[in-house]
Amino acid sequence: MADTVRAKRQRTCVLCGMKAGKGSLLRLVRDQEGRVSLDPGGKAAGRGAYVCSAACLDALLKSRRLEHALRTKIAPSDYERIAREFADATPATGLIPGEAPLKALAAAREVQGR
Ligand SMILES: [Zn+2]
Repeated sequence: MADTVRAKRQRTCVLCGMKAGKGSLLRLVRDQEGRVSLDPGGKAAGRGAYVCSAACLDALLKSRRLEHALRTKIAPSDYERIAREFADATPATGLIPGEAPLKALAAAREVQGR
């Protein structure tokens, strides 16, 4: 019973509230020194927060909500570093390698925006 619940456990995008499986969301993590960084593998130790898309990450970095979600203070230089880490982790498409759900979301947005 407990195993079934764990397998179905969903994470919530801290910005828009969309729920999805852990593998579909991008994780940010606050480590023991209080440093916040991107966690593309989703396995780093520390308090985590999830976003569902590049757009939500972008909006999150421009708001204070990440500080609330991770219960820490984040300096402007840290936001810039996180944005750089994200840019480095993504190909020219601006999407995360291997993250099919994010690609699908981006494609859906393109269709809607036409
Ligand atoms: Zn979102």
